[in-house]
Amino acid sequence: MQDEADCDYVIVGAGSAGCVLANRLSADGAKVVLLEAGPSDWHPMIHVPAGILKLLYNEAVNWKYETEAEPNAGGRQIYWPRGRVLGGSSSINGMLFVRGNAADYDGWAQMGCTGWSYEDCLPHFKSMESYAPGDDAHRGKNGPLKIEDYRTVLPLTHHFVEAAQAAGFPFTPDLSGAQQEGVGYSQMSRNGRYRGSTAQTFLAEARKHPNLKVETNAYATKLLFDGKRCTGVAFNQKGQQREIKTSREVIVSGGSVNSPQLLQISGIGPAEHLKSIGVPVVHDLPGVGANLSDHYVVRVSYRIKELLSINEYSRGMRLAGEVMKWLATGKGALTFGVSSAQVFCRSREGLASPDIQLLFSPASYDEKVFGALEKQPGATIAVSIARPESRGSIMARSADAAVRPAIKPNYLDAHGDINVLLAGIWHARRIFASLSISKYAAHEVTPGQDVQTEDELVEHARNFGTTLYHPVGTCKMGTDPMAVVDPRLHVHGLHGLRVIDASVMPTVSTGNTNAPTIMIAEKGASMILQDNSP
Ligand SMILES: Cc1cc2nc3c(=O)[nH]c(=O)nc-3n(C[C@H](O)[C@H](O)[C@H](O)COP(=O)(O)OP(=O)(O)OC[C@H]3O[C@@H](n4cnc5c(N)ncnc54)[C@H](O)[C@@H]3O)c2cc1C
Repeated sequence: MQDEADCDYVIVGAGSAGCVLANRLSADGAKVVLLEAGPSDWHPMIHVPAGILKLLYNEAVNWKYETEAEPNAGGRQIYWPRGRVLGGSSSINGMLFVRGNAADYDGWAQMGCTGWSYEDCLPHFKSMESYAPGDDAHRGKNGPLKIEDYRTVLPLTHHFVEAAQAAGFPFTPDLSGAQQEGVGYSQMSRNGRYRGSTAQTFLAEARKHPNLKVETNAYATKLLFDGKRCTGVAFNQKGQQREIKTSREVIVSGGSVNSPQLLQISGIGPAEHLKSIGVPVVHDLPGVGANLSDHYVVRVSYRIKELLSINEYSRGMRLAGEVMKWLATGKGALTFGVSSAQVFCRSREGLASPDIQLLFSPASYDEKVFGALEKQPGATIAVSIARPESRGSIMARSADAAVRPAIKPNYLDAHGDINVLLAGIWHARRIFASLSISKYAAHEVTPGQDVQTEDELVEHARNFGTTLYHPVGTCKMGTDPMAVVDPRLHVHGLHGLRVIDASVMPTVSTGNTNAPTIMIAEKGASMILQDNSP
């Protein structure tokens, strides 16, 4: 491509969504430029699945955000890692593959997102993935994203799955298949021994297209407008300010933190707020940055006896053995993701679908050192409020793109969320108490045996809960006055501009958000191609 101003599409952000869009749009012959603020994904720890613990704090590939002091979570500022590298957060995430519940998407359609029911989304969930063991009616076999079961399953995980069944949860063979509810083994976005980020799958495939140009270390600082039409993007690359013009569309895929920030500093957002930070208003859109929703988790962990946990595999001679095993066979502890089995269940009778996700890990974490494994053997059930009611916001503090936005998730603001959390902790304790695992569970480490009453548990949840890294909703799709994009993902009231990433989800999916984000991009790409076809 000789002249960048001559491209058809500019995509801002090469994350989970951006890499999918780059693939599908360039496959159609269009001239596409993909801008990514971070570097290429050269870092070796990206590709070794268990390397995630080395990426959580790594500023070479991570935005390392922090929330404001959270009023209902002990006044703490909560650490928010986000990927800043080709592949975005799919290059640093826990690799769990979870599609969500059919009711999530039917709920979106019900909220005014016409065309987004589960039945409408299913073809895109299938076309994005290859999951060999899945049944053809529900799972894809030929898509770029490789989904695999765990290659090595520790006995502790099998005991958890048995214990959950003993506690009353039915066995679910495929948590992203016909039925989500129940207990099942986790699936991973993994390609053999390596992480399956969207950079290593969708983008790697698209690199063959000569009409795709990828610009790394290119930070978009402003969307350019001619009246109400978006015509291009200004970006900073290694200290140089550049501009790129597009003939068709600009697609913002910067993720739930950066997409609303870029819109706001470009003049699209709540007019009063924009004026207060000195940004000239291009289009008053009150919902930009509002409706932030995230999964808040509290861990229930036990000291384990007689069996090995990941804690032991992560150090000393055992770790050396696992490195050798990974190199020789591509199996073992280095291929693990963050959770080997999960339960989807309900907090109370009468709900139509699960509102709790329990994520089991045959490992335990130091509550004081983020991401550090304990030295003694342990196992953890992370209790996640899967369909939270609390809502927060992400607002630019300054017109300057270099100033980080204010992140206010407002965790546990809704009382309903606290009730769900309490029910989830109760379920987790019941599972650890059930016979198949209780003989290996020496004692509860966290919350701890002395934390029993409702008040004590709520206090613990406020002081020790954290993010499951799933912020969504800050550029929500819909047709109500707070919606930012319409059901075809166009920004309301403007031309030539769409947002396509996790930020458009009107409500967070029941489970981890990478697969739903990739589906949104897959569906968004097909809409763009339809809308631009002659
Ligand atoms: C630590 C962690 C663990 C997680 N674990 C899991 C898991 O196990 N399973 C799961 O399903 N989900 C998981 N998630 C969530 C999942 O990865 C995200 O929901 C998903 O990646 C979001 O995709 P996205 O395209 O919206 O944003 P991202 O993938 O974050 O991509 C946004 C990209 O845009 C770039 N960008 C931003 N602003 C600009 C700009 N102005 N100019 C240029 N580029 C820009 C960013 O650098 C980034 O590369 C995890 C997330 C994290 C952070």
